[in-house]
Amino acid sequence: MAFRLANINNRAVLVTDNGVYDLERHGEGFSSEPMEAIARYRELHDVAASLNGSPDAQLDPATLGPPVPRPQKVLGIGLNYKAHAEESKMDLPENPLVFNKLSSCIVGPCDDVIVFGPTTDWEAELVVVMGTRARDIAAEDAWDNIAGVTCGQDISERTTQFASRPPHFDLGKSYDTFGPIGPSIVSVDQLNDPNDLALTCSVNGEQKQNARTNDLIFDVPALVAYISAICTLEPGDLIFTGTPSGVGVMAGTFLQPGDEVTTTIESIGTMTNRCVARGE
Ligand code: ZN
Repeated sequence: MAFRLANINNRAVLVTDNGVYDLERHGEGFSSEPMEAIARYRELHDVAASLNGSPDAQLDPATLGPPVPRPQKVLGIGLNYKAHAEESKMDLPENPLVFNKLSSCIVGPCDDVIVFGPTTDWEAELVVVMGTRARDIAAEDAWDNIAGVTCGQDISERTTQFASRPPHFDLGKSYDTFGPIGPSIVSVDQLNDPNDLALTCSVNGEQKQNARTNDLIFDVPALVAYISAICTLEPGDLIFTGTPSGVGVMAGTFLQPGDEVTTTIESIGTMTNRCVARGE
């Protein structure tokens, strides 16, 4: 049975239409630790199927923390949608363009994003949450090694991103709070077609991005195969799979304190992050 795994007060919870179930209370032999829950994702299907009776609480979205609070690695993929590569006036990559987001940038689905510079931009993305210790995974086995998927924003400070020649993306995408994820990890069997999900981003209610993940140049199985041939992926490692066209830098509009960024992916959910000034 499909599951939705979330983090409330740094405790793993399963979310159903009825409400929230604390995993330590309802999962035989489970602790409250969200990272342990991710690594035991195969067992969560049975726990989800066994849930009955009244929930421990109703879901209050404002209490949600990042469903993966302490990923060991956070990898991002650049220029992975054709229309975005074209709007960026960059050649289509021949191999995945992989960069690091430092794990210290990860925040929850309702947390504030600090606007650190005048060219801070949005990037709505499908985020893959690895479930296994994965090395040399064949593309056809990739989804079986994934705990689930969630929404992400690969917030990017463009001036910092292109401050050096050649540019390196890592730091401009790693300011504190630049990696909101959530609202929950949705198991792959919850999705009709995990390779074809509608994804949108709006800023202050105005839609900026609207695409489907079947437009990815390197799809999720290809990314897992490529990366796991180079480094061992660990349970909870995140892959931000790339953003479609419609980022702010193309129109010269950027995030300002007070803006509200809403990210929605079909069958996964919505997260809304408010932009604040440094020190606010
Ligand atoms: Zn990105």
